[in-house]
Amino acid sequence: MIKVCKFGGTSMADGINFRRVAGILASDPERRYAVVSAPGKRYGGDNKVTDLLYETHAEVERTGRCGEAYKKVRERFRSITRELGISYDIDSLLDETAAEIERERSADFTASRGEYLCGKLFSAFLGVPFIDAREVIKFTPEGKLDGRTFTLASRVLKEERAVFPGFYGEGADGKVKTFSRGGSDISGAVLARAVGADLYENWTDVSGFLAADPRVVASPARIGVLSYRELRELSYMGANVLHSESIFPVREADIPVRIKNTFRPEDEGTLIVPVSRYRYGGRAVTGIAGKKNFTVILLEKAMMNAEMGFTYRVLEVLYRHKISFEHIPSGIDTMSLVIDSEELGGVLDEVCGEIRAAVQPDSMRVFNDIALIAVVGHGMSRTIGISARLFDAIARAGVNVRMIDQGSSEIDIIVGVENAQYERTIRAVYEEFFGNPES
Ligand code: ADP
Ligand code: ASP
Ligand code: MG
Repeated sequence: MIKVCKFGGTSMADGINFRRVAGILASDPERRYAVVSAPGKRYGGDNKVTDLLYETHAEVERTGRCGEAYKKVRERFRSITRELGISYDIDSLLDETAAEIERERSADFTASRGEYLCGKLFSAFLGVPFIDAREVIKFTPEGKLDGRTFTLASRVLKEERAVFPGFYGEGADGKVKTFSRGGSDISGAVLARAVGADLYENWTDVSGFLAADPRVVASPARIGVLSYRELRELSYMGANVLHSESIFPVREADIPVRIKNTFRPEDEGTLIVPVSRYRYGGRAVTGIAGKKNFTVILLEKAMMNAEMGFTYRVLEVLYRHKISFEHIPSGIDTMSLVIDSEELGGVLDEVCGEIRAAVQPDSMRVFNDIALIAVVGHGMSRTIGISARLFDAIARAGVNVRMIDQGSSEIDIIVGVENAQYERTIRAVYEEFFGNPES
């Protein structure tokens, strides 16, 4: 059995946690490959090393030199080295890295150094080889994962154990390229697939995937088993305990994922499995997730349905502006475009004007500051009356629903509410489906 274990930012935040992680690896010889994130926050108000490195990049752009932010990065790695009590020449590595950052002047390269330095130090501490992600994770010129990655992984399998930095790989131009934020989860999944792992363990600071965001609902229930599809829906919709793209590599090879808590390793965590191996556990709803800051453009036009090319012309306007949409729920005479507000930054009026000219709707309304909340579960399609309970619970909480999207996947229902009502809605929906153990 081979297990690939990814440890997140809080798990690598300081020397004590390095030791904790070493203990987790030592307790199971199948845990052969460790993928590490950059050190995260040690306490509220602390800095994440990755954030400091993005600041460093801005400093280098401004002045040509690493400045105050990089000093803080240095201090973090020095203090971890001190806490570990090892004789590792972290200062030389930090000097070399600063020089490379100044030479490369690339945001991706600079940001990736958090994982690089953390991996180097952790490998020295464990006495286990370090394998640079550049040598294994390769991207195509379009920025997609290159299939070569999977053959290059034979390099990893030559080692009985190894430490592998998360978050980055090498672009087709030979330069370091990162995944999007939180991307060490993807690195772990890619490596798991590449070495043919039997299990991908994702170690974080919560005891599994919870039925709602623990920052919104106090002590939400833990989800014992989740299907890849449910995971994809929940993580895409904001449950960022696992990066939403990390599912693809493991899904292709049917590798199960287990979410574990570094600070409570004895807890069972959450197991994520293919739909085929998923057993319906009797609960209608598996989990709830959500995100704020969407814009909804509601178009109405009599006989919209019968008008050839209506949707095409609307989407063409978005395409021209390189704006991607999240959802397009539609009825016979209505269509809503749900778009991440950031995508529309500064061009909303222009886009609306062009849509009006392109399709001449009878009316067009724009709702800003909309939050989307997704209620997800395979059980929903088997259980009668879920929508009624959902909308009843939201109404009882005094919240107005601005938009509904049942989606085509039948495992989720998405509702749009005002940003200001986001927390209240999540709590009401959670209470309805999880407040009583029978539901
Ligand atoms: P890591 O640094 O280990 O990658 P992250 O911060 O990326 O950890 O993800 C873990 C965090 O995700 C938790 O601390 C929690 O606040 C947040 N979170 C949001 N939604 C959920 C959820 N449904 N279940 C568990 N954690 C969640
Ligand atoms: N360190 C990176 C970030 O903060 C990647 C990760 O932690 O997964 O986004
Ligand atoms: Mg994460």
